[in-house]
Parts: sequence; structure tokens; C-alpha cells
Amino acid sequence: MTRNYDAIIIGGGHNGLTCGAYLARAGKTILVLEQKPYVGGASVTEEFSPGFCASTYAFILGHLHPKVIKELELMKYGLEYYPQPNVFNPTEDDGIIFSKDPAKTQEQIARFSKKDAENYPKFFKRMQSTIELLRKLQLETPINPFRKDPASIWKTARFAWRYRNAETEVYNLLHALSMSAHDYVSQWFENDLVKAKFMFWATIGGNSGPYSPGTAFYLVTHLIGQIGMNFCKGGMGSVANAIKLSGEAHGMEVQCNTFVDKILVLNGKAYGVCLKSGEEIHAKRIISNANVKHTFLDMVDKSHLPEDFINDVKGFRTRGMSFKLLCAVDKLPQYRGFNKERTGIEYPAYAHIGPTPEFLERAFHDAKFGWYSSEPFLSPNVPSYVDPTLAPEGKHVVAFQGGVTPYELRNSDWQKEGPQLVKNAFNVMDRFAPGFSESVIDYKLFTPKDIEADINLPGGNSQHGELTLDQIFFMRPIPKYADYRSPVRNLYQCGASTHPGGAVSAVPGHNAAREILADWRLRA
Ligand SMILES: Cc1cc2nc3c(=O)[nH]c(=O)nc-3n(C[C@H](O)[C@H](O)[C@H](O)COP(=O)(O)OP(=O)(O)OC[C@H]3O[C@@H](n4cnc5c(N)ncnc54)[C@H](O)[C@@H]3O)c2cc1C
Repeated sequence: MTRNYDAIIIGGGHNGLTCGAYLARAGKTILVLEQKPYVGGASVTEEFSPGFCASTYAFILGHLHPKVIKELELMKYGLEYYPQPNVFNPTEDDGIIFSKDPAKTQEQIARFSKKDAENYPKFFKRMQSTIELLRKLQLETPINPFRKDPASIWKTARFAWRYRNAETEVYNLLHALSMSAHDYVSQWFENDLVKAKFMFWATIGGNSGPYSPGTAFYLVTHLIGQIGMNFCKGGMGSVANAIKLSGEAHGMEVQCNTFVDKILVLNGKAYGVCLKSGEEIHAKRIISNANVKHTFLDMVDKSHLPEDFINDVKGFRTRGMSFKLLCAVDKLPQYRGFNKERTGIEYPAYAHIGPTPEFLERAFHDAKFGWYSSEPFLSPNVPSYVDPTLAPEGKHVVAFQGGVTPYELRNSDWQKEGPQLVKNAFNVMDRFAPGFSESVIDYKLFTPKDIEADINLPGGNSQHGELTLDQIFFMRPIPKYADYRSPVRNLYQCGASTHPGGAVSAVPGHNAAREILADWRLRA
């Protein structure tokens, strides 16, 4: 007999689980289908070497929305995290700390430039104004300014009215959206290390170097999290597991090792899914947590979709440019430039290596022409320093996200070039933390191709798709369908391809559930 649910969610990433948990709390029968043996998607913990576990992809918990933590009672369901209030940027003989405490950051900056330290509060104020606006926009369902029916015009007008007094914030946001990260920070800072310290954020998840227009937005958007920077106890898989348990407590079912092959559509309405096994499962609503390209180009028969919609989906840019490298080591990395007294911290468990603006920009040069950086920038983090569950006693896990690594290589492939990329990363690390490479017992590398293959993420882009002006808010993932709906009735989207985009924030899942429940109230 065919199984039947109120809603089926394709993908057990943290957003799919969040959407499911909210719908289950509203009394709906929910089935989450995940292709991998466990949930989490890009928010997982895996054993990458015997006895060594790490957050395979996402590693810093900072964006998870406090509203979701509270409403889904995630602390009750096992979420625990260790604050990491400081990020260390080493040079070869010194280093600077970016701290959650602005006074401490200012003190650190003053060691390198008195003028930059004086300007830091102005920079902070400008950033904060943009961050506050983005935090409000996060929870909005994007308006649809392309529709001219009275209901849409009314929604757009109400949105404009709500933000009528935000002209300064909008002006500041437009600066971030259009300026390069380098020009942005140069408005306040003159010292190269101080500039690079902030520009590093702009390199994460982006596809162009921090001298390119628009990259200041990446800088700002990485700092909008409201819970500070943290390592999650047990790795990032614990976030997904807590959301799963919260949903299951309200009846949500989760089925892993289950690949959804097709979304079933009849007369313009989605009514079920067909699994790779051939089984059909039916539901009143189908919700995709998968990337927008996989959802509409692979799972929905194109006869059900308008041609311009298909073209827009094809045009959604999903180029991944960063790699993850997980290392099992027999001792903690020792940074040559680190000093407890100078920095006021015990040990830099989270660092950003990229000491000058030029270093960061150069890392992007080769990638433009199909090659990888000879000197990659790196964000080494040692979660086992605070969480002993991740490594055997006396040993540690050092995980790096770094760049720049294009998806396709010119006249070569990643199988051949992977070992050289690892050597390049180790060389950079040895320069700042001598002896690091000798401490490595084992490692595992993930290029954008590996990320794509593992979690079915086209291009391996950490955000599901680039965060550029043409791919945010009412343009994300594509114009006219940014409100979590789609051209197929009863088919919705809830993953990071939708507003507000990537990060372990749970906001797309939260917003999608709100829209789906609103539709349910109108038509059961
Ligand atoms: C390398 C890397 C580093 C990152 N670092 C951070 C970080 O430090 N902090 C942070 O906040 N964010 C980080 N991010 C971003 C963040 O992890 C993602 O944006 C977020 O996890 C996306 O969640 P999601 O639930 O929307 O989608 P996903 O996590 O992509 O989940 C989608 C799920 O759908 C499943 N699926 C796909 N197709 C099918 C199918 N046909 N049938 C069944 N299941 C299917 C997949 O297996 C997957 O589990 C990082 C991402 C990457 C890749």
C-alpha cells in the first residue's frame, strides 16, 4: 500500500529538519527522506580516520538563529556548544586577535596602528548598522516585486513601510553589496594586517578575491550570527541531531539511506515522490531541502516547468571555490607568532591565515584560470582543544577550510592534484606553525567535486549558491520564486538555495515552514 503523509521533505540537511520540526509541531504528519546514512547534510560530524571525528564541512556554530534554538528547544534535545570568542590571525613573528569584545579587538589593533584603533569604533558602528538590518531581513519572506496582482503589491507596500526609517542602514548595505572588501576596510584602516584580518571573512564562500566589487557583502554577512562563534560539542552533526530529535518528539519520521529520484506531478500539482528503489510515497505537500538545481533540473520533469524558470535555475551560480582538509595530529599546532601575554588568550584554537590583503587576493589568481593556489589562505581550527570526544587522548583534530580551489582544473583533475594541494596547505601551515606537517598522522581532503558528490550539492558551493546582488533576497534562488514556493503547486523549497542563503542558521527552514503553514490555512 502507498504510504501517505501531510508533507514529505527531500533531504535531511539541518534546514529540511527544521522545516519538518516546525510542521510536526503544527500537527502535520511529516516524512524526511535523506540519501545519506545520517542526517545533517553540510552540518555533520564524521569519523575521517580511526578514532578521529570532525565537522566534515561547516565547523563554526555562530549563525544558528536564537528563535529556532528556543522554539525547537534545541538545548533540551542535546545541543551544547563551546564559545570561541577569539580568532587569531598570525604573522610569522606576531599575530592579532579579533575578539567578540570590541574593546579587546581595539586594544589588539592598537599594537599595530594607533590610527586604526581610533577608527575601529567607526568601522564597528557602520558594520553593526548593516548587520542589524540583515538580521531583520533574514526572517522576512522575500517580497515579489515582479507580480502586479493586488495581494503582491500590498505585500511589497507593507514591506516598504516597515523599513521606511531604515534609510541609513539601506545606504550602508548598498555600500557593502557594491564595494570590494579591500576598499571597504580601507575607509578606516591603513595597516595591512588589520585590513587582512577583516578581509579574511570576505574570502569564505565567495568566488572572487577581496579586491573585487561586491565582496564586502561576504565580510558583513559572515558576522551576522547572534550567538557568537562556537565549536559545537560533538561537532556540527549535533545541531542536526538536536533538530531531528525535536521533530521526532512531535511525530516527525526520518528515513535515511533513501535517495529521492523524482517528484511526482499531475495537472500542475505535486503529489508525491518516487524513490530510487522504485517505491512511491504520497503527500499533500512536497518540500525540497536539496539544492535548487538538483530539485528542478533532476527531480521534476521539465514538462511541468515554464521554460524561463528552467533557464533561470540553470543560471543560478553554484561554483564552489574552497576545500576542506581534516587532519589527525599527534600534537597541537604551535604558532610562531602566538604569545599568551600579547593576545590575552590561552591557545588560539581558531585561526585565520592570510596575513596581508595581497596574500588573500593572490590566492584567487590561479583559480581564475582553472588552477589552485600555490599559497592557499587557511582557517585552521582545533575543536578537540575544547572537545575531547573528537580525538584519542593526547591527539588532536586540526580542520582547515581554505582556498582557492576551482571545481574543474585546466588539463588535469583533482585525483591527480589533490596531494599537491595538501602539500601547499602544509607548507603555508609550516611557515606559521613550524613542525605542523610532521605532526600529521592522517588526513582527508574534500575538494568542491568531493563535496558535490557527497551531499549532492551542485558545484560544491558552501552556500548552495553565490551570495551576490543578483542571487539574494527576492532574487534568491531565482526571481519570482523567492518566497519558498515554486511554479508547481504544493512543491516548496526550504534549503540554503533560498533566502537568506547558506550557513547553519536554520532560517530558510524556519521561514519556509511559516509560508507552508500559511498556505495550509488557506487551502488544506
Ligand atoms: C565546506 C563548507 C564549510 C562550511 N562552513 C560553515 C561554517 O563554519 N558555519 C556555518 O554556519 N556554515 C558553514 N557552511 C554552510 C552551511 O553548512 C550550509 O549552508 C548549510 O549546512 C546548508 O544546509 P541545508 O540544510 O540548507 O542544505 P544541505 O546541508 O546541503 O542539506 C541538503 C540535504 O539533502 C540531501 N539530499 C540531496 N538530494 C537528495 C535526494 N535526491 N534524496 C534525498 N536526499 C537528498 C543531502 O544529502 C543533504 O543532506 C559550510 C559549508 C561547506 C560546504
